[in-house]
Formats: sequence, structure tokens, C-alpha cells
Amino acid sequence: MYQDIVSEIEFTVKKEGRNGADVNLVVVSKTFAADDIEPVLELGARIFGENRVQEAAAKWPELQAVYNDVKLHLIGPLQSNKTAEAVALFDVIHTVDRKKIADYIAAEQLKQDKLLELFIQVNIGDEPQKAGIALAELADFYRYCVDEKKLNIIGLMCIPPAAHDSGPYFALLHKHAKALGLKGLSMGMSADFKTAIRLGATHIRVGSAIFGSRD
Ligand SMILES: *Cc1c(COP(=O)(O)O)cnc(C)c1O
Repeated sequence: MYQDIVSEIEFTVKKEGRNGADVNLVVVSKTFAADDIEPVLELGARIFGENRVQEAAAKWPELQAVYNDVKLHLIGPLQSNKTAEAVALFDVIHTVDRKKIADYIAAEQLKQDKLLELFIQVNIGDEPQKAGIALAELADFYRYCVDEKKLNIIGLMCIPPAAHDSGPYFALLHKHAKALGLKGLSMGMSADFKTAIRLGATHIRVGSAIFGSRD
């Protein structure tokens, strides 16, 4: 339930001595239909995350016609051929992880005269199958995005390895963000958002704890 999660977040924010204004709940509505999303909008949620451009384009414009202050976050991998649509639809992209995508986003932003907030996705557990830039390449990639492409990078994002304690990975991401002078930390999902809040998350991405399990 949305309100239960909001209460848990507020409780955790207090307990960990964080400032509530620094912790944003991204409600992950992927796979859920407009009928499931609308009650959560009615309860006041305004930041939503989707992992597929096509799915978001199919369901959000109609909802945004009614709830016009919604901010949409892309939290899934971005294919270069979807960049134009993604830049048009989303306010924030959490998954910038390679030069080609940085190039495409920069070009599209110019074309559309729109500046998004962006996170660099880091492959924090160095997993071969996972998206994200390797830690060893992070600093160079960050400089490329900012200096050469003039991208508005606001932070780092990660999805830690499954079946491990997320804590050490969140702490590592925090350390690297700090080293780059970045404040934003997109980390923590339904199972570990409290740990993420403790370790400095500014954006937690919560889906199933709000909507129930996805099948
Ligand atoms: C699906 C997804 C989430 C939400 O996961 P839950 O476990 O349902 O909270 C968060 N981040 C990303 C990148 C996702 O794809």
C-alpha cells in the first residue's frame, strides 16, 4: 500500500537523521495499468518510474492530461533508437551507462530544447550480465558526459547483485558519488529501501511494496 510505504519512509528518514526533502519516492508502476495507478495518483504520488519507453508512452500521456504535475523517471535500459521518445516523455533518466547513449541524449535534448536530470548507472557488483558502467570507467565517463556532452548529471544509480546484502554496495556507490561531487543517489527498491535511506539514497525506486507482486 502506498500510504504504508510513505509512513515507513517517514519513520526511517527520522530514525536515520535524514531530511525528508532529500529522499524522493519514485513509485515504480511498470507492468501496472492506468486503473491501478490512478488510486496512487489520487493519494498524492507525483513521481513515477517506468522501465520501458514503449509501455510508458502507451499509458502515461492520458494520465498526465489529468495529473499534469507528474514527473516521469526512466529506470530501465535505454536503446538508442528510443532516445527521441524517451527525452520527450521523461523528466529524469536513471540509466545513462555508455557513450553512445550520452551522445544520443545530448543531441535529442538540443533538438527538443529540453534538459533532463540524469543519473549514471553503475554496475556496482561488476556483474557481466548487468547494465551499468564499470567502476573503473566511471570517472572518465562522468567527465565525458559533463565536459563534452554538457549533460545534467545529478547522481549515480545502481541495482546491487541479487541475494546479497545491499548495504555494502550502497555504501560503495555513495563513496563514488561523493568523490565526483554528486549529491544524487538512486538506490533501494522494495526489499532494501530502508538500508538505502540509511546510506544516503536521494531516490528510492519502489514498485511491488506499493502495487503488489508483478506476474
Ligand atoms: C522494477 C524495478 C524497481 C522496483 O522493484 P520492486 O522490487 O518492485 O520495488 C526498481 N528499480 C528498477 C531499476 C526496476 O527495474
